[in-house]
Amino acid sequence: ARQFFVGGNFKMNGTIKSITDIVHNLNNAPLDPRTEVVLSPPALFLLLVREHLKPEIEVCSQNVFDKPNGAFTGEISAEQLSDSKITWALCGHSERRVILKEDDTFIASKTKAALDGGLGVILCCGETLEQREANQTIEVVTTQLSAIASKTKDWSKVVIAYEPVWAIGTGKVATTEQAQEVHAAIRKWLGETVSKEAAEKTRIIYGGSVSEKNCKELAKQSDIDGFLVGGASLKPAFVDIINAKQ
Ligand code: 13P
Repeated sequence: ARQFFVGGNFKMNGTIKSITDIVHNLNNAPLDPRTEVVLSPPALFLLLVREHLKPEIEVCSQNVFDKPNGAFTGEISAEQLSDSKITWALCGHSERRVILKEDDTFIASKTKAALDGGLGVILCCGETLEQREANQTIEVVTTQLSAIASKTKDWSKVVIAYEPVWAIGTGKVATTEQAQEVHAAIRKWLGETVSKEAAEKTRIIYGGSVSEKNCKELAKQSDIDGFLVGGASLKPAFVDIINAKQ
């Protein structure tokens, strides 16, 4: 069975005070020990979180660059993250695709660099509302993932996050059927494109307006292996989402 995985993506939110409070709450909360939990604060706070968070919870960078070091102002490498005990990186988030204009080729290069540098990668994919209404969802998602597969053969440290763009930060969560359908299609794609083993073992998590109210139904679906949580990861409700399987 695949271990349930819940990531908290703080995005560009929080202060030293508010993030320290979240860390203390999580350290003291009754978290389901069967869930793998990963916290992704803004880069500025990665070391602070790593220092104070209990070791069972891993820390994830919201970004990573595709070179090991050098004249790349403002960027952080996988080697630097790994050296700082930051063991995961997010790649391909729709906010970086849309706002920062990251394309599939660059995302594939960053994913490869992160994996080569020893990090786990939460690899995000997902369609816009326009693409869903044009019945292009599966095609869009598999095209995004194919760009990664062309550079990465070993998917053992990849967690795929399906995040429909129309569900992110909108309060409009995908229905359990909509999410399960895409997750199953991604698993089928993994089997056909990467390997049977990758299809069986890769966690495919859902993101987009996940809350303490909708997480339990979603978590019952056979191909939903966890969540990538934005807004709710900043609130006490995050604990309920970590415990969605209980
Ligand atoms: P929300 O949970 O705020 O919709 O954000 C989802 C997301 O983008 C997580 O990466």
